[in-house]
Amino acid sequence: MRKKGGPKYVFRFAEGKADGDREMRNLLGGKGAGLAEMCRMGIPVPPGFTITTEVCTWFESHGRKYPKGLEAEVRGAMALLEQSMGKRFDDPANPLLVSIRSGARVSMPGMMDTVLNLGLNDTTVAGLAERSGSERFAWDAYRRFVQMYGDVVLGVRAAKGEDHDPFSVALDTIKKERKAKLDTDLDEGALRELVKRYKAIVKRRTGSAFPNEPQEQLWGAITAVFLSWNNERADAYREMNGIPGDWGTAVNVQAMVYGNLGATSGTGVAFTRDPSTGEKRFYGEYLMNAQGEDVVAGIRTPNPIEELRAVNAKAYRQLLGIQKKLEDHFRDMQDLEFTIEDGRLFMLQTRAGKRTGFAAVRIAVDLVREKKISREEAVARVEPESLNQLLQPVFDSKEARAARRSGRVLCKGLNAGPGAATGRIAFSQEEAQARAAKGQPVILVRIETSPEDIRGMQASRGILTARGGMTSHAALVARQMGKVCVAGAGDVEIDYKAKRMSVNGRRLKEGDWLSLDGTTGEVIKGEIATQPSEVVAALFGKGAAAKKARSSPTFAAFKSLMSWADAIRRLDVRTNADQPDQCATALAFGAQGVGLCRTEHMFFGEGKLLPMREVILSEDEAGRKRALKKLLPLQRKDFEGVFKVMGTLPVTIRTLDPPLHEFLPHDAKTIALIARDMGVPKQQIAAKVESLKELNPMLGHRGCRLGITFPEITRMQAQAIFEAACNVAKRTKKMPRPEIMIPLVATAKELELQAEIVHATAAEVFAKKKIKVPYLVGTMIELPRAALTAGAIAKHAEFFSFGTNDLTQTTYGISRDDAGRFIPEYVDLGIFDGDPFARLDEIGVGRLMEIATTEGRAARPDIKIGICGEHGGDPASVMFCHRLGLEYVSCSPYRIPIARLAAAQAVLLERALE
Ligand code: PEP
Ligand code: MG
Repeated sequence: MRKKGGPKYVFRFAEGKADGDREMRNLLGGKGAGLAEMCRMGIPVPPGFTITTEVCTWFESHGRKYPKGLEAEVRGAMALLEQSMGKRFDDPANPLLVSIRSGARVSMPGMMDTVLNLGLNDTTVAGLAERSGSERFAWDAYRRFVQMYGDVVLGVRAAKGEDHDPFSVALDTIKKERKAKLDTDLDEGALRELVKRYKAIVKRRTGSAFPNEPQEQLWGAITAVFLSWNNERADAYREMNGIPGDWGTAVNVQAMVYGNLGATSGTGVAFTRDPSTGEKRFYGEYLMNAQGEDVVAGIRTPNPIEELRAVNAKAYRQLLGIQKKLEDHFRDMQDLEFTIEDGRLFMLQTRAGKRTGFAAVRIAVDLVREKKISREEAVARVEPESLNQLLQPVFDSKEARAARRSGRVLCKGLNAGPGAATGRIAFSQEEAQARAAKGQPVILVRIETSPEDIRGMQASRGILTARGGMTSHAALVARQMGKVCVAGAGDVEIDYKAKRMSVNGRRLKEGDWLSLDGTTGEVIKGEIATQPSEVVAALFGKGAAAKKARSSPTFAAFKSLMSWADAIRRLDVRTNADQPDQCATALAFGAQGVGLCRTEHMFFGEGKLLPMREVILSEDEAGRKRALKKLLPLQRKDFEGVFKVMGTLPVTIRTLDPPLHEFLPHDAKTIALIARDMGVPKQQIAAKVESLKELNPMLGHRGCRLGITFPEITRMQAQAIFEAACNVAKRTKKMPRPEIMIPLVATAKELELQAEIVHATAAEVFAKKKIKVPYLVGTMIELPRAALTAGAIAKHAEFFSFGTNDLTQTTYGISRDDAGRFIPEYVDLGIFDGDPFARLDEIGVGRLMEIATTEGRAARPDIKIGICGEHGGDPASVMFCHRLGLEYVSCSPYRIPIARLAAAQAVLLERALE
């Protein structure tokens, strides 16, 4: 027993009482906390106990030994379990059998291990047969146990070069020998024989006999489940989902109930709402005469839950009542596991269900409408990144219709993950990763849905499986990743060796194009173009399709959630956009201004590259001025377009920034063209191009250094901006709000000189146009020196915008263009937590931002501060910007909803911590 005052490692639940509750999920894991809570609610749960996650952490940090006292606590809990079941472990007459399951703080579907029917051996199997009245059942349970234990605890799996594990091979062999089609066709004699063969396999592969002793079995399984916290696929899953490695898993030991006790028994998985669409309907699958893992492992394709009504109306009604009770109690969509033993219903699990982005938004909004949660809770519940799914494309309806009409639909499976994906077939995760690395879109095609495939799934646009249901592990994981998934397409036959698949006689090979409609479940031969999602169609579409999209439940829920987020957030969200159409897109997504208009992008547009090149390649000021004169009207037009769309919202326009070499001509033909246009010899242009080459252009003649050495460029740009603003103000009667931003400033003097040009040009233009437009002049903070001297710089800046792409580059001294070569390895080695170009490095780069913000505000209290680096669209970085007290974040148009939601969550988090 536990020492008085020492830590408690084992938490019991039985007969309507439990040591733990739902609040203890960190200690008991999601499954353990859910079981305890259900037990307290009086819901039928087989009794058992949970060994805490602390034991897992202890075990890992103490050379895989258990803390003192654990063994005694487990012994005590087992004794009480025996008492409440009226059975004894290792009792030949009436044996207690248990299940051993993992359960981490957050669910990691299928990543860790489970052992069922533990406690069986050659003696107790007879007792089980006697008590259940079925020899066949007892031997079926036994063979399942030997197989699971052999795999999970003893590590007997497919060796290198083997396609299947030896147990499956033995099962297939005996089925052939006995001419059995299904596992259920095997009689008691065949199952007895199978147990013998399984044990021989264990002996051959491990060198030891299968453990007979239930206590040894128990500790073997507990240890295996703890060890599975660190298996390869669990590691990969944690890495992808940002789950800390030191959380550990709990282990749940629970009395067995049997779904495979015959035709009146069964097992199933259900959701209180549709996990794909979020629709409010009880949704799930079950199999009669089956044991837990059969449903989720995708070995047999299960039946829809509604059909259970006809099989066992009482259990179905009870299940309906329980699911409602659980959802009302937890105030969220629940994912349930249940077993019916000889007509009697038991709940094995309840937890917040994994869901797609579509479902997450719809469920959160519906729960508010049903008065179950507040708007704030709804906003806090949706992962900002998951909104991405709502913006993902669907198939181009014309092409899809044509494909359907021409008979390219190969078959239909279950619509396990919505959206549309088209790509090349890969039959293994290695192949999927290799193709993805080459930039190919990939569809991963597998017979069944093994969690081992997780990296291949990550690399693919869509996943197709021949077997398995909506609730199979891979379907869950695919939905969570936001991948398109069609599962259980039974007509698909796959030959991994030949790298071929055939569907009703039609053949496809690895690398062929395949399309999946994750919303209808269709599997379609060939490539199909995609088109905007419902949300995107509703926002930007025209005509009947747009009207329909606007009245869809998804769009309605999206709009509500966004409006609630907007009411909460303090940060403004702007966009990085250079063209009027991008600005229009951003506005529809809720942008409150432009945070970064990169003028150099405009120079790549129609008719502008040649004069731009002439500016750079001119030998003197006069030549540059001539070329700039050609550019001025073109730039003015660009800005007019942007101002017109943005109305009275602020538009931050950055003066020329990139290294000059990006504009240089490289081929003789272009050089000749420029020379002719400028009226100078080709050789002169070629020599100039040569002389402008830099060894390290990113740190060279770029940013404000261009404007300093060629002030006429800044002047022309300022003139174009102000003239455009005046013209639009006159034409539209709306006052544009340009904010002119000077890039890559390292010293206050640089900004002072550039600001002088801008102010002087503004005065000239306003006098000429007889109208004044409000404007600001500011700078990017994207060099460490600028951040460290922000007080001095702020004297000349009415605003700062953090250019965290360059600030990350220069703080780390890592070239942003070459970082991809080694950053993944740095992340693998744990040197970096993640890619600092994707997620802001709060400790280093963030520290510089903090200094700049504090000193900038001290020097100029009303200074406006924002961010326009890529981090402005990353949820965690947005939350950091909120904490820093910035005024706005700016990101690409499609990230705007994500940033809006993250900004609202930042406020909610702050309130929670107050
Ligand atoms: C930055 O450096 O963060 C930035 C926004 O500028 P650019 O990416 O154009 O260098
Ligand atoms: Mg920059």
